[in-house]
Amino acid sequence: MENLSSNFIKDVMIKDLESGKHDKIITRFPPEPNGYLHIGHAKSIIINFGLADEFNGKTNLRFDDTNPLKEDVEYVNSIKEDVKWLGFEWDNLFFASDYFEEMYKRAVLLIKKGLAYVDDLSADEIREYRGTLTSPGKESPYRDRSVEENLDLFERMRNGEFENGQKVLRAKIDMKSPNINLRDPVIYRISHATHHNTGDKWCIYPMYAFAHPLEDAIEDVTHSICTVEFEDQRPLYNWVVEQCEMESTPQQIEFGRLNVTNTVMSKRKLKQLVDEGFVDGWDDPRMPTISGMRRKGFTPESIRNFVRETGVSKGSGAVDSQMLEHFVREDLKLKAPRTMGILNPLKVVITNYPEGQIELLDAEINPEVPEMGMRKIPFSREIYIEKDDFMENPPAKYFRLFPGNEVRLKHAYFIKCEEVIKDIHGEVIELRCTYDPLTKSGTGFTGRKVKGTIHWVEATNSVPAEFRLYEPLILDNTDEDTAEEGKTFLDNVNPESLVVLQGFVEPNMRESRPHDKFQFFRHGYFNVDPKHTTVDKLVFNRIVSLKSSFKI
Ligand code: ATP
Ligand code: MG
Repeated sequence: MENLSSNFIKDVMIKDLESGKHDKIITRFPPEPNGYLHIGHAKSIIINFGLADEFNGKTNLRFDDTNPLKEDVEYVNSIKEDVKWLGFEWDNLFFASDYFEEMYKRAVLLIKKGLAYVDDLSADEIREYRGTLTSPGKESPYRDRSVEENLDLFERMRNGEFENGQKVLRAKIDMKSPNINLRDPVIYRISHATHHNTGDKWCIYPMYAFAHPLEDAIEDVTHSICTVEFEDQRPLYNWVVEQCEMESTPQQIEFGRLNVTNTVMSKRKLKQLVDEGFVDGWDDPRMPTISGMRRKGFTPESIRNFVRETGVSKGSGAVDSQMLEHFVREDLKLKAPRTMGILNPLKVVITNYPEGQIELLDAEINPEVPEMGMRKIPFSREIYIEKDDFMENPPAKYFRLFPGNEVRLKHAYFIKCEEVIKDIHGEVIELRCTYDPLTKSGTGFTGRKVKGTIHWVEATNSVPAEFRLYEPLILDNTDEDTAEEGKTFLDNVNPESLVVLQGFVEPNMRESRPHDKFQFFRHGYFNVDPKHTTVDKLVFNRIVSLKSSFKI
């Protein structure tokens, strides 16, 4: 796999190997199975797996499944599929929930050391007592319970004697700490809920801030890579590892989140788009999820190249979504066969072409890659062209078809528009053209020039196809936190993010399979949609158009 360019995390690893602090790098990718992975997660995957790989280390895929209410095996399965699809193999597959017993023991150890207590304050009271950035917190009246009482209450919490929210276990650190995370954080809560892995075995669950450092230490993770929001949690992370007397001491290192313009990048928001029907599922091609991008037609290589280009730093500005498009275009340029498709058909009858005759024209599968060989394209008296390639009363500099004008049909002949047929509403429904047999493509004809080249599909053998064209799902990059008063990111959802067109493709496309990718002449790159394609109907998702203003 391609290496990441040098960065501060890699530097730490090099230093730790050189100094002998570690003899092997162990990282983990720790998703919570409460949604599908998005392109932001791809960055975390590439950093964790990529860096460990570079140093012949190991990476665990660990499901951080400590919150039974939001988690589901559907998400577990999709995450495994997405990590593999991106091109990575985990050394171990772990579930944080498999460590519940161990975590419980460590919590008991904290209680015995006088470093944790059972609190009866309500969630609201705990928040109120916590204080603010400018004012110190206040100690809970339950803070000085004896070790014996705490041990007894904690065991009874585990045994299900209390309701949700009635009691919590808190670490006893410092209510006056300038770092709010150290003001006696809650480390266990009661939740009478069925867990996707442990079922009804537990009704108390560890909080993230307590569970995560223990998970890392249990797995001997050397470098626990996370995003910058967790920077203020690092002292608590270290406190947990130390006070719980873990043998391993992982080092937390933070990097800046990946954000991309014109989308949202949080599982909670993405779930809302799915649940409220803005999209047709987590794998809707407009979603920034790995499964959505796969369905749209992105390749693993294009995503990896994009992520590598964004680099590893502490900053987290939004990256232009056009940069993603640039990388998929680059990747498909030499891989995708070229073909022609008509998205908005207009019938053309070539009146001087022999009736009933079909000739097979030659075209390269990809002119940039001659080794890909040639394909045959049928041509006959009836073809389809794009509605847009004809204008009855064109403006100046319109070089496509109009009455009396001649254009080149890609890979075929020059045709000239002789007659326009309309329906009773005045709508153009057919063109009558003539062709010039001397102008056949590839014969070196130099008699005269035409300014326009248009694409076409032979009508009698063409295959019906649906084309799905996408625009950005989110109209600007305001997210809920910065949206105007009273508005949310949902107000920025683009109502016209999907356009569905019915057209035709060349007959040799009939054998296409889901996920086959093509470059349609003048229209861009398309992927055969795995969800909507049937034996009777091909459905193509546009991955990206041919041109972009983006330069890297
Ligand atoms: P979200 O906020 O989208 O729900 P999360 O951080 O809660 O994401 P986790 O399942 O906890 O999701 O994420 C697994 C790993 O992926 C974490 O280490 C997290 O820091 C990382 N990650 C999540 N979002 C991004 C992002 N946008 N850029 C880089 N890394 C990310
Ligand atoms: Mg999360």
